[in-house]
Amino acid sequence: MTTGKISEITPLQEWEIFNGRPLVISGPCSAETEEQVMETARQLAATKRVDLFRAGIWKPRTRPNSFEGIGTEGLKWLKQVKQEYGMPVAIEVATEKHVFEALKYGIDVLWIGARTTVNPFAMQALADALEGVDVMVFVKNPINPELDLWIGAIERIQKAGIKKIGAIHRGFSSFEKSAYRNQPKWQIPIELRQRIPEIALICDPSHMGGSKAFLLDLAQKSMDLNYDGLMIESHSDPDNALSDKRQQIKPAELVELLDRIILRNPDSHDDNFLNSIEELRSQIDMYDDQLFEILESRMKVAETIGQYKKEHNITILQTNRWKEIVNKTVSKCADKGLSTEFISTVLKAIHQESINHQMRVMNEK
Ligand code: PEP
Ligand code: MN
Repeated sequence: MTTGKISEITPLQEWEIFNGRPLVISGPCSAETEEQVMETARQLAATKRVDLFRAGIWKPRTRPNSFEGIGTEGLKWLKQVKQEYGMPVAIEVATEKHVFEALKYGIDVLWIGARTTVNPFAMQALADALEGVDVMVFVKNPINPELDLWIGAIERIQKAGIKKIGAIHRGFSSFEKSAYRNQPKWQIPIELRQRIPEIALICDPSHMGGSKAFLLDLAQKSMDLNYDGLMIESHSDPDNALSDKRQQIKPAELVELLDRIILRNPDSHDDNFLNSIEELRSQIDMYDDQLFEILESRMKVAETIGQYKKEHNITILQTNRWKEIVNKTVSKCADKGLSTEFISTVLKAIHQESINHQMRVMNEK
């Protein structure tokens, strides 16, 4: 058991793999064959844009009978990638055995996947296996949007004495339908950075978006929020990938994508002001997105109520209920710095829109 105190995190700028922002981690979702790994690595190395080559060796899959990874055999190929192309290599580890095998093959960086971060028993077992080892570790956010679980996982790794620890934001699973495979919920990593300011923050737009189409937007957003790096899945032949084919891009497409990202330099003194404004604006955009998502959910509830009212023959407008909402909200918001006038304007607009939705439901044949 590790009882040691929490070690200090080494800033990303001091890691040997860091060559400037953004740190680019790329490679296939899964190592499939020697040829696929070596060819993807060859093309990625040739771009000179990739700081760290990734590949999944053991794959956590939602359903059995999907490709669950090539296993230990693939570690030889990664060793070869390192030797032939000079790129450091990263894999996902989920068990102690994975850690020992990875270390045996000289894997430089271990990342802990979302399905492992979520489990404190698994995290502690990994931390125990990592005790006193000099290796870089990235911790992906847990599947569910619970910041303390993410922080707890990071702390367990810190307690094992690991100093080079980063966090990877890959989004959160949700029962609600959304265009993204995993919802970003940007406020959670923003809060993580407030709680652990020295931790490197990497965005994984591949698993967040789940599709090539969202990569640029998500990557740009993360750069505007001043993230330190990107993890983007790349495959020499994405159409025939054995896992995550919709979200993998060719190495040449990775270069195009990186070229299109507008980088605002947070360290430049001249641009300091503009950069902070940009970061704040991104936060505003994020809150606006959330506001409208919440409004959308609210309208859906209103529609369901409309359906009930229709079935029970009740009128749409119930004045008492409306007064109650206004009074309750005004008193709840008294200490939020929002004026009564603003609250009632917003509520009126929301109420009107709700009525419109209910009307539509009630008048449907
Ligand atoms: C991966 O990076 O291939 C992976 C399985 O990611 P996640 O843990 O974010 O689902
Ligand atoms: Mn994947």
